[in-house]
Formats: sequence, structure tokens, C-alpha cells
Amino acid sequence: AKAEGGNRYAVADPDSDARAISRHHLTHHLPAALKGCEFFIEYQPLVRMGDGSLEGAEALVRWSHPRHGVLGPDRFIPLAEHTGLIVPLGQWVLKEAVRQACQWQVRGIGGTRPLKVNVNLSPRQLHHPDLVDDTVAVLEESGLDPSALCLEVTETAMVSADESELRPLRELAEYGVGIALDDFGTGYSNLANLRRLPASTLKLDRSFTQGLQRDPADPVDLKIVEGIVSLAHTLQLSVTVEGVETSVQAEQLRDLGCDSAQGWYYARPGPPERLPEAV
Ligand code: C2E
Ligand code: CA
Ligand code: CA
Ligand code: CA
Repeated sequence: AKAEGGNRYAVADPDSDARAISRHHLTHHLPAALKGCEFFIEYQPLVRMGDGSLEGAEALVRWSHPRHGVLGPDRFIPLAEHTGLIVPLGQWVLKEAVRQACQWQVRGIGGTRPLKVNVNLSPRQLHHPDLVDDTVAVLEESGLDPSALCLEVTETAMVSADESELRPLRELAEYGVGIALDDFGTGYSNLANLRRLPASTLKLDRSFTQGLQRDPADPVDLKIVEGIVSLAHTLQLSVTVEGVETSVQAEQLRDLGCDSAQGWYYARPGPPERLPEAV
């Protein structure tokens, strides 16, 4: 594992030996890892583009493996999805992230506007019959206002969801929880589709942000992002951009009307204590 940008925790280098750890081995150890509290969460700030203020943070899970160091979610989330362990793991992430958001609020971080916390939801959780009850229970036990929680579901998962799978999200949205369409632009939504989704936010995939890196940016890329932002705003969705790494990208995306942003330019994911000083 290598140290990244002064992060206290290091995320496993994808090219390191860690790659060689077999999927079988990791899958086998997931349940014990959950019982043994080997998972932890890093938080990455979400920043309002208008004034640069802190809007909230996305919870990103990591596995502190006793032998192989810190493993990133791409290494084990697919395995947890496959075995179904993602349901209790996702439940743990939700509970922990909500508890953290309460702490930030108690400490007054974020000023007068309460900080939000974003939690990723895998398709497998979306299909689980207890999703709504469990989520509401976590919020009620914590006392966190539902509007301070945003659940991120990938565009691909949401677009392929049928009405019965969208219903729990609709119920949560009615309860006040925000719903974000994650990795937007990588699936194939059309306008009619977007209208029927209970989303409040669209998270523009990092691939678009990368397209704006060149100076001057590719005019076609600019037009596409402009179109998505205007479509989103027409549908009353706010737009968050992912993967902002440079000031060039940040400025362009702000000029294109994006509402908030996330990326290494602002801060890398880090421990919760780091959030107040992140922006
Ligand atoms: P995601 O939801 O798209 O999360 C954003 C990913 O982009 C994170 O990777 C984050 O560290 C990375 N990132 C942030 N800013 C930048 C940047 O400026 N440049 C670049 N190149 N990357 C940036 P991470 O933490 O490795 O997470 C990967 C994926 O794992 C997430 O993608 C999400 O799909 C999944 N994941 C993470 N935590 C959870 C969880 O608790 N539950 C579920 N179901 N999935 C999770
Ligand atoms: Ca996400
Ligand atoms: Ca994303
Ligand atoms: Ca992604």
C-alpha cells in the first residue's frame, strides 16, 4: 500500500501484490472481517461550487486486512455483492455514516446548513425487502434528519430497476432521504426514464470531468455536459460532478452550472476527523 496525498490511511495500490490475493480467499474472509470490525469508512468532501462551502461527504468503505493492508472497495464490494454479505456490510456502513453525520452536526461543522452524508447502495440492497424499514430505523434511532442522508444508486442499477424495485426508493424519497443517480452518463438513460426515477441529484461520472481536462477543453465534451446539466435542472435535479482533479476542471464545471463537486482537487477521502479542515 502506498501513502496518498498525505492521507493517514493508504489505499492499496492496484498494481501491488495485493492484486494477487485470490478472490476466493477474500470472499471466504469477508464474514469474519465484518464480525471482527476490520472495515472502516473514509469520507470525501462534497463542495458547493457557488461559494466553495462544505455541503457534506460521501462515505467510502475500506477493508483493513490484517495481512494484506488496506483494500479499496473495488476489491471486495463485488465479492460481497456476490455472496450477499453486502446487505449486512451496507447496513453497517449506513449506521456508521449516520452516526458520523450526527457527530458533525453536534459539533456544528458545516455552519448553519447541516452537513449531509452520502452512502452508496448496491443493487443487491435495493432488492432487499427490509431496505426501507432498516433505513428508517437507523435514522430514527440516531435522530438525524432524513434530509441529511443521501443514498447513491448507480444510474445502471436504477435504469434497469422495475417499478417494484423503485418503490422502496420512492418511499425513502417521500420520507425525506435524498437519492442520487451515481456514475451518471455511463448507463443509457433517456429523458422519459429520468422522469420516472425518484432521484434528487445526478452525479456526473468522472469520465466527463476527465474530458474537460484539456485546455481548451473539447467543445463537444463541453456541449454534452452543458446539455446534461440543463436537462437535470429542468427535471429539478441538482448536479454533483465527480473526479475533479484540477482547477481547470473546477472552473469549467462551475461555469457550466454544476451545483457541487467532489474530487482530489478539493480533498481525497480521509478519516472523519479530517473533514472540518478539508475545505
Ligand atoms: P463511486 O461511488 O463512484 O465513488 C467515487 C470513487 O472515486 C471513490 O473510489 C473515490 O475515492 C474516487 N475518487 C474521488 N475523487 C477522485 C478524483 O479526483 N480522481 C479519481 N481518479 N478518483 C477519485 P473508491 O473509494 O475506491 O470507491 C470505489 C467504488 O466502490 C465507489 O465508486 C462505489 O461504487 C463503491 N463503494 C465504496 N464504498 C461503498 C459502500 O459502502 N457500499 C457500496 N455498495 N459501494 C461502495
Ligand atoms: Ca458513489
Ligand atoms: Ca460515482
Ligand atoms: Ca464510479
